[in-house]
Amino acid sequence: MTELRLAKPRGFCAGVVMAIEAVRDAARDETNLGAYHDIVHNRTVVRRLEEEGVTFVERLDDLPAATRTVVFSAHGIAPGVRERAAELGLATIDATCPLVTKVHSEAIRYASLGYHILLVGDSSRHQEVLGTLGEAPEVTTLVRVITQKPGDPGLTDPETVTVPDCEKVVALTQTTLSVDDTDRTIEVLRSRFPKLVTPSRDDLCFATKNRQAAVKALAGQVDLFLVVTSAHSSNGMRLLELARSLAPRAERVESAQDLRPEWFSGANKVGLSSAASTPDDLVQDIVATLRSGNPNLALTEEGEDENVTFRRPDRRPAARLAARG
Ligand code: SF4
Repeated sequence: MTELRLAKPRGFCAGVVMAIEAVRDAARDETNLGAYHDIVHNRTVVRRLEEEGVTFVERLDDLPAATRTVVFSAHGIAPGVRERAAELGLATIDATCPLVTKVHSEAIRYASLGYHILLVGDSSRHQEVLGTLGEAPEVTTLVRVITQKPGDPGLTDPETVTVPDCEKVVALTQTTLSVDDTDRTIEVLRSRFPKLVTPSRDDLCFATKNRQAAVKALAGQVDLFLVVTSAHSSNGMRLLELARSLAPRAERVESAQDLRPEWFSGANKVGLSSAASTPDDLVQDIVATLRSGNPNLALTEEGEDENVTFRRPDRRPAARLAARG
């Protein structure tokens, strides 16, 4: 191996930075901090925050009785979760990414205008999809990305989905899907519903688009492409799929421990990117490991900088204080 080429941007996006800092700050001020759902979809991030005393749950009712504040993850929540937090007398810190909130606002607005919503997602169990669906469940149908294999019973095929009124139908999407596959899915929906409305700015976020563009530019020029991501990160797995479609070989790793010597046999040029939820120190460990085995390794970084920041959310006091013991 002679060259290691790092895609830029890669790793943490503005929404992830904001969400993790929100948890860290709150955990410094308060013991027994709770978090609803993994704050971001990366196992290392969650494990490190657990070591700082944060309890992660999938049901608010499972939080320890001593919990006074809960943080909502970057993926957003359905209104029912916010209501349950109020019933439990929990103070809240809403770390939902503003770009997910934008999609929620669209769902609320189009539902109020009498539209049926086709919400395109990669899993009916993904937290972001569940959160957006929860804004207007009675007028929303979850739609599978066209290239995805059938098998998720919660997702309807774009080629067979039906709507009550073809004149009033809007397509919204999860923020982290494949750019190309989303375009193709919207095309199929538009061919079936010519009056289909889509938001003026599409729902895929800048971080998703930028990371995919960087992988697209690089993956065809290397012998092996590595994507550092947890398997449940939607944006990370889309990067892996993209790399697999362009590079002779692409592999997913969570950390340097996952690197396998046989992948590098005959691979002179190696590309690397990481999901929007992957901490940079995991990437740096991988770089250091590859360098130690290849002392003359040429290291380059290719692509554009990404300079976006989001404001950290405030703590909101408990709506009702009496319910918890
Ligand atoms: Fe927000 Fe996009 Fe990052 Fe998700 S991947 S947290 S939508 S910026």
